[in-house]
Amino acid sequence: MTSIEQLHDTLGGLGLTALGLRLEGLLEKASKGEPSYADFLLEALNTEADARRQRYLKTRLQLAHLPYLKTFEQFDFGFQPSIDERQIRELRTLRFVHEAGNVCFLGPPGVGKTHLAVALAEATIRAGQAAYFMTAHDLVEDLGRAYREGRLERRMKVYVAPKVLVIDEMGYLPLDELGATIFFQLVSARYERSSIILTSNKSYGDWGSIFGDPIIATAILDRLLHHSTTINIRGESYRLKDRRRAGLLTRPEEQPPVLPAAAPNRRIKRRHSE
Ligand code: ADP
Ligand code: MG
Repeated sequence: MTSIEQLHDTLGGLGLTALGLRLEGLLEKASKGEPSYADFLLEALNTEADARRQRYLKTRLQLAHLPYLKTFEQFDFGFQPSIDERQIRELRTLRFVHEAGNVCFLGPPGVGKTHLAVALAEATIRAGQAAYFMTAHDLVEDLGRAYREGRLERRMKVYVAPKVLVIDEMGYLPLDELGATIFFQLVSARYERSSIILTSNKSYGDWGSIFGDPIIATAILDRLLHHSTTINIRGESYRLKDRRRAGLLTRPEEQPPVLPAAAPNRRIKRRHSE
């Protein structure tokens, strides 16, 4: 058995697969560059360490349950001037994660709320912390089921454990009483311990209608907003951008005025004289 064959055997036995794959290349490079013994060992071990980091990152990203993978580099801030880039730069430092603060992205559909939430989750994972993504609807449904089956406490841990929890699309659908109570429990359990990144198409003033009860809405907002950053995005939908460019849509100001739809159950009052 040659020493190279023995090396492969040993590396395989130790589970150093990435180093095994690059062994010949590394040896050839070393024979040409003649690095010091220490530098050679460092490069060899870094090969394995880098591969492990990549594997770890991939697993964490898969576990995070992200709807798609988007980063800050892919976000066109020029398209969305209502976003203060300084605020985003601050968020990207992940100080809010260390301080267990929350982030809320508010705005109409298609303006990049989920994109930015996913980018923050990705950055968190890249920094070595766990993140988990769920829509508000799926989260409440999942915990509601756990409650009915008597395993709420155990299931709650899935949403309490990650350092960052993204709750997407808060307010698209109203919650019933159980849903609101469960949501309150979750926000309370994470309060000052770990971060929530939330996206919503509703402004805070409309949260009473999401929870059907202004008292619980206030209690939730109180905890959620105590240490938090709110990013209000007021631009237009990025999804419509390409369609608009293709001439399928016009800008809002170019659109003909539309008559408001009549409320279905409201009769038009006739004046007495008629
Ligand atoms: P929403 O605000 O409804 O959550 P998304 O974040 O899902 O919208 O954005 C819709 C799509 O448009 C996604 O594919 C997202 O990556 C893309 N997008 C939105 N805003 C931007 C932007 N400013 N730059 C690049 N892509 C964007
Ligand atoms: Mg979204």
